[in-house]
Amino acid sequence: MKIFYSPAHLEHEPPQEFEQGRMAPAVEVPERVERVRAEAERRKIGALLPPRDFGMEPVSRVHDAGLVTFLSEASSLWRKRYGEGAPPAIPSAWPGRGMKNRFQGDVESRLGTYAFDTATPIVRGTWSASLAAANCALSAAEAIKSGERAAFALARPPGHHASADVFGGYCYLNNIAIAAQWCVDHGLKPAVLDVDYHHGNGTQSIFYGRDDVLFVSIHGDPSFAYPHFLGFADEHGEGRGEGANLNLPLPMYSAWDAYSWALDKAAKKIRAFGPDVLLVSLGLDSFEADPISKFKLRAEDYLRMGEAIAGLKLPTVFNFEGGYNLDALAAITVNVLEGFESAA
Ligand SMILES: [Zn+2]
Repeated sequence: MKIFYSPAHLEHEPPQEFEQGRMAPAVEVPERVERVRAEAERRKIGALLPPRDFGMEPVSRVHDAGLVTFLSEASSLWRKRYGEGAPPAIPSAWPGRGMKNRFQGDVESRLGTYAFDTATPIVRGTWSASLAAANCALSAAEAIKSGERAAFALARPPGHHASADVFGGYCYLNNIAIAAQWCVDHGLKPAVLDVDYHHGNGTQSIFYGRDDVLFVSIHGDPSFAYPHFLGFADEHGEGRGEGANLNLPLPMYSAWDAYSWALDKAAKKIRAFGPDVLLVSLGLDSFEADPISKFKLRAEDYLRMGEAIAGLKLPTVFNFEGGYNLDALAAITVNVLEGFESAA
């Protein structure tokens, strides 16, 4: 399969994030993509290609103009305020209930207005890396439109936690939502399957009121797992989108038996929707030794996952999302792709 990759992600390298009450070393690091790239080349999954530049139009089809403008200038505003050597931009205050969102405010108030957590720092290279990641997802969708059976957008930062006008969860632009919207705009009917350990709250919220994009997610129950405030089983979509959203939250320590049951339910839903194209939010943090996961999937389970996805018999875009065990990440990512290819 074609693999879309840009070195722009190397410049998005926040050293730290704030979580669990402390500054901690960042886990969403460039080495993630670089290791997967090396493994995909070693196992000959496909040719590595640069993404095409789609410009801002497909991004603006999904994201609020104010968020896009802010992301493009946040780092320079932050450095103007706190100095060229300032640490990454991280919000420290939010408009709580009874306060005002300040979309046109100073850099601190815009950070609090547009970000929903402290795990998503902005550095000098964040914006160009985010655009390149969106272009990788779009290039993968375009490859499908031109007749490819599968394509892999190997990029970071990930995207599935970013909504139309809020960023967070290591995500700035929602790459898979941008690709899904591009598919709609080019006459395709897309279904999104999110297998990241965390619920794809951003993707869900972008398409929640719509019936032209299906969103299905298998993830750690938000009663204990990030993003905490969305991803429950009773979220089915609203208005025209009623029934076009399926959440399959699983309990702590879920292993392949529970996971494959959920995959089966997801597949039934996707088949019933009758899409032309499948877009997979490929997060690998469901792995048993992932530092931030409470699932227990083993390395060989990812081959089965790839096979199950291939069983849907749909042209498929894989879009890289989470997964933080650097020693295992490359092997399990490529396991999904190899399982897919062997069964396709
Ligand atoms: Zn995740």
